[in-house]
Amino acid sequence: MIKNFTSFSSLGIFNLYLSIIIIIFTLPISHAKAQTINHNTKQPQTPNETLIQAANNNNHQPDQNTPTQSFPQTRHLILISIDALTPDTYLNPKNPTPNLQTLKKQGTHTRHMTSTFPAYTYPAHAAMLTGQTPSNTNITYNAPRNSKGEWNWHTTAIQAPTLWTALKSAHLSTAAIQWPISVSPEITYNIPEIWDPNTPQDRITQTRRYSSPGLLEKIEKNATGTLTPENMDEEHFSMDQNTARAAAYIFSTYKPSFLALHFASLDGTGHHYGRGADSTRLALASIDAGIGHLLEAVQRSGLKDSTTILITGDHGMVTMKYALRPNIWIKGLGARFHTAGGSCFLYPDDPKDTLAAQRITRRLKNLPGKYRRLFRIYDKERLIRMGADREAVLALVARDGYVFSGYETGEEMVSVHGGHHGYDPSNPKMYTGFIAAGAGIRKGGEIKSLKITDIAGIVAHLLNVDFPTPAGKIPAGLLSSPEHK
Ligand SMILES: [Zn+2]
Repeated sequence: MIKNFTSFSSLGIFNLYLSIIIIIFTLPISHAKAQTINHNTKQPQTPNETLIQAANNNNHQPDQNTPTQSFPQTRHLILISIDALTPDTYLNPKNPTPNLQTLKKQGTHTRHMTSTFPAYTYPAHAAMLTGQTPSNTNITYNAPRNSKGEWNWHTTAIQAPTLWTALKSAHLSTAAIQWPISVSPEITYNIPEIWDPNTPQDRITQTRRYSSPGLLEKIEKNATGTLTPENMDEEHFSMDQNTARAAAYIFSTYKPSFLALHFASLDGTGHHYGRGADSTRLALASIDAGIGHLLEAVQRSGLKDSTTILITGDHGMVTMKYALRPNIWIKGLGARFHTAGGSCFLYPDDPKDTLAAQRITRRLKNLPGKYRRLFRIYDKERLIRMGADREAVLALVARDGYVFSGYETGEEMVSVHGGHHGYDPSNPKMYTGFIAAGAGIRKGGEIKSLKITDIAGIVAHLLNVDFPTPAGKIPAGLLSSPEHK
């Protein structure tokens, strides 16, 4: 979701993090059922465990009997979103992610979690905390379609019930650090993600304005030092390090029930250099060190046994080579494509124009083969099934390596470099990751797949908060309590 990633002059700062903190986060078993469960799957199994494994082997069969327990599975839940997290970051032991790999071993993970359509940052983060698709949250892109540069920063943009409200109603304290769509008075300890569209790399000036009164000053005094546009700049790894330090301070000091934080630099380097580039590995190492710092704070605070850690991402990343400009192809036909990286969505100039999709489809199907083979056409029915924007009448999805550009003039196809996302979430390169560990979570487990709309229900369940999530389920095999088989 980077805006202008021009250089990486601050790589020297990475030297500060060469001593990556590896916290052996020896995970607790559910405090509520500690005496009755054997979590080591290599030990002889109880009938319940056999059932858990059998269900797990069935690969993401949703738990149709989501239980209503009378006690919280955990007392503190930390949700860490690593923007553009791909599963290989923790599946491949050669990656510089000792903390993620330790959490994976000691908790439950998946090899893929599917994002929203488009697989984009703000639609995905809205889905995470509502359990609903963009068609219901109305967060269909990062920014509203008519935006002059502002993104969907305010929670009021989400047209579905959010966990923030549910947790507040349940009298549970919450915290958000650099979390997308989190400008809100409902969050107890808040340092939201927001910037001035004119100076998008500066993540602190506007954030200071919208943070909980006095909170940022306390963090600067006790955890980070003075935060500036330079050390809260998406081009520098220091921003994610400061996010981690702020999270550690908030957790230790205020012990919120729910803490959500968002690391941006992996996505930033991915956009600039492409998937798997050397700089993305450096970003990953820096984020992993930040997670180690936070895990250490949990351990030091004495709350390890009653805390759950959820690591999540929002989408994958594809290295791109060419940008297509579909608005050139449909010029004069009374409609326009709104682009989202690997996909673009059609909106008629006149919303009552019911024939636009038909007209545009005909034009696209008659394009020369050299262009026509570079994308697929998704009709309205398919968009509804995928939970995409209700107002879009058609979408195009590009082949890997191709992205869409909104330009209406010039060449129809131009070469580009770097990386992007936004493709169909079922594209394996769009898969993001998920690891859960700690209180209430099964140890040493694997879930075959997960949807990003499953996260909200998992959080609500673990914190024992009533929160219906129509598009999400708690996957079998995730939780440790025998009643969650
Ligand atoms: Zn993202």
